[in-house]
Amino acid sequence: MAKKALITGITGQDGSYLAELLLSKGYEVHGLIRRASTFNTARIDHMYVDPHQEGAKLFLHYGDLADGARLVTLLAQINPDEVYNLAAQSHVRVSFDEPEHTGNTTGMGSIRLLEAMRMANVNARFYQASSSEMFGATPPPQDEETPFYPRSPYGAAKVYSYWVTKNYREAYGMFAVNGILFNHESPRRGETFVTRKITRAVAAIKAGKQQELYMGNLDAVRDWGYAAEYVEGMWRMLQVDEPEDFVLATNAGYTVKDFLQYSFEHVGLNWEDYVRFDERYLRPTEVDALIGDYSKAKDKLGWEPTVKTPELARIMVDADIEALKNAGTHWIDTVNLKSWNSSLLVAGA
Ligand code: NDP
Ligand code: GDP
Repeated sequence: MAKKALITGITGQDGSYLAELLLSKGYEVHGLIRRASTFNTARIDHMYVDPHQEGAKLFLHYGDLADGARLVTLLAQINPDEVYNLAAQSHVRVSFDEPEHTGNTTGMGSIRLLEAMRMANVNARFYQASSSEMFGATPPPQDEETPFYPRSPYGAAKVYSYWVTKNYREAYGMFAVNGILFNHESPRRGETFVTRKITRAVAAIKAGKQQELYMGNLDAVRDWGYAAEYVEGMWRMLQVDEPEDFVLATNAGYTVKDFLQYSFEHVGLNWEDYVRFDERYLRPTEVDALIGDYSKAKDKLGWEPTVKTPELARIMVDADIEALKNAGTHWIDTVNLKSWNSSLLVAGA
């Protein structure tokens, strides 16, 4: 019998890579998707097979982490072996604009899911997408023992989810673990995260479609890894004998300026000629530096990243150049109307 996994957040960056990984391992994969007025499945369309066809292994279900009753019904119906809770309002800057919504999804969402597992009597292994943002103001290097000091509603909500995951492990003996992941990026990264915002702009500037790029704090230090490698680490966390929490990172820190430099340099441009400052991209409180020590994951999971930040920047720039070339008329209309225009990467995100 194939193992069954439920992924919340399957339409997101990590969910799409994780679904690919689990399908390649023979899993039956179930994904929670939100009903929207337009399709929101672009990242997973390439692996979707009509469920009427024989051999379909990917099944999508409407649901929302705000809707606990639905989670109970769904878990009872699917009865998965593994549950990956990746769904969240995942943007730090946006969490200052929508703190309550962020708390409800990124924080309360996890306890709804854990509680739904108990109510539906589902004995699955549970993965919680915890974040290096929980360390916040605590200086690097950060590992599994580093104290938390979140600096945003997002970080605080993730701390709550971290602790309830640990609490359900201790209180009910559940195999529930936290993957404390440092920033990880890819060509599928959301367009308003700093790396993707930069690499899309580089592609557009090189193609003559954009003249400048407005940014916030360029001195922040991050440890940027490659998302496709990080989902392997998530999976490994659920395959070991004992439930434990793990950091995944690359153990190297770069500034936003460094990322700008690698990206612009890759197409023969000087970032300083294009980047402008806009204070709306600043956060009320900033996380200055995150650099993760992943020794425990290396020792106990045999996990190690191979793609480092400079190479990641080049991979993402190349992918955005390709995406821009391949864009059809529809996409160009969208560009003219809104989405390629960086100043319309709106509301300070
Ligand atoms: P994305 O923002 O790309 O994806 C978030 C996913 O959550 C989307 O599928 C989104 O659906 C879904 N979602 C949002 N709100 C709800 C809700 N109320 N109910 C159900 N689904 C919802 O995030 P990533 O893939 O980058 O990250 C995955 C997880 O890992 C997140 O929890 C994130 O906070 C965490 N994380 C990410 C890091 C990173 O660097 N990427 C670092 C550390 C932690 P929709 O497509 O409909 O919007
Ligand atoms: P985060 O680490 O989860 O907050 O991921 P982001 O990619 O959103 O931001 C990484 C860092 O880049 C933060 O320190 C931001 O303050 C900084 N940054 C600077 N300019 C921008 C910008 O224009 N957009 C975003 N998203 N971040 C920016």
